[in-house]
Amino acid sequence: MPDPKDRERIDRFETRTVHAGAEPDPATGAVIPAIEMSTTFKQNAVGELREGYDYARTDNPTRRALEAAIADLETGQHGIAYASGMAATQNVLYLLDPGDAILISDDVYGGTWRLADRVWRRYGIEPIPVDLSDLDALARALADNETVRLVWVETPTNPLLKIVDISAVVRLAAGRGALTVVDNTFATPFLQRPLELGADIVLHSATKYLGGHSDVVGGVLATRRDDLAERLRFNQNAAGAVPSPFDCWLVLRGLRTLALRMERASASAALLAAWLGGRGEVDRVRYPGLPEHPDRDLVRRQMHLPGAMVSFEVAEAAGGAARARAIAGCTRLFTLAESLGAVESLIEVPAGMTHQSVAETPLAVPAALIRLSVGIESVDDLVADLDAAFAATSA
Ligand SMILES: *Cc1c(COP(=O)(O)O)cnc(C)c1O
Repeated sequence: MPDPKDRERIDRFETRTVHAGAEPDPATGAVIPAIEMSTTFKQNAVGELREGYDYARTDNPTRRALEAAIADLETGQHGIAYASGMAATQNVLYLLDPGDAILISDDVYGGTWRLADRVWRRYGIEPIPVDLSDLDALARALADNETVRLVWVETPTNPLLKIVDISAVVRLAAGRGALTVVDNTFATPFLQRPLELGADIVLHSATKYLGGHSDVVGGVLATRRDDLAERLRFNQNAAGAVPSPFDCWLVLRGLRTLALRMERASASAALLAAWLGGRGEVDRVRYPGLPEHPDRDLVRRQMHLPGAMVSFEVAEAAGGAARARAIAGCTRLFTLAESLGAVESLIEVPAGMTHQSVAETPLAVPAALIRLSVGIESVDDLVADLDAAFAATSA
């Protein structure tokens, strides 16, 4: 694989999204990789493999194409694919030992906290929630906990869209010998490339923007470190939470339009955030692209675009949590559903949906918060849809 820096010079990101991991099939000339369903591969002689494949859990041509594409787009040396984002998360944790602690973003994806709190704890790994957008809090947590081996970053965070300074976290974590893992699901490599900022491992729920069409569940990791990749690959095969060839193919297909989708959705999200900010019923719009976002400068430094997720709270005087639920229940274009990152726009109330599992924990979210995943529809239609929902629910 070429040096990531050379790759950066060879092709711009948009070009790489189209071509990464794609070589015409040498046997047939097929431009698009085949969905290779064979579970086993003929050997030339005992133990002598033809193209490096023996059994499909261990390695598979369609998966290999996806893994090469992810490595390329995240400017890693290695991409490793899993059956879901959570399977990828679980595989990162196999790097730890009982007695280790991990520091974890305090508004991390609800499922990540659930896995950490309800499963890892039983295996002797202690998750400690920290507001990683507060570097002093991170430094204190590292100083207070000798056993921290890993810092788990999500940025922008979900659903509050706080921004974490990846380079600064890497510096502090590495100073204590801890790994930095960045869940890059919300930003995608088009907007932000954590490995270039020093992170050890990048994680994605490929179910979201990478797949991009709400039709495949998947997860991927990328790293530049050979030592970590070797252990991750061993565990990928040993534990076996691998994606099907068809799922790999769907994620690869989705990736081809990543740059176009992110550009459109991000531009629409910026317009929607500004429009929401002008409404009396709205208390606080959280969008990394707003001039009043507390981390505006960091957003400019770290992200190519501010992304397509927008959160806002319905003001107490305008009906608060009950109104938020009513609004989310009556939009027509914004579909009331969990998940994010696809071509169609989605709306949800995290306190009653994605973040129900963190109610009454340090990770609880405001009850009147609405989260939007902005898709690629006409932004005028999206504004009209929200406008109608505000009107239909006013007292
Ligand atoms: C969805 C999501 C996950 C989990 O991924 P699955 O593919 O649903 O297993 C992890 N992190 C973030 C930020 C997510 O949005």
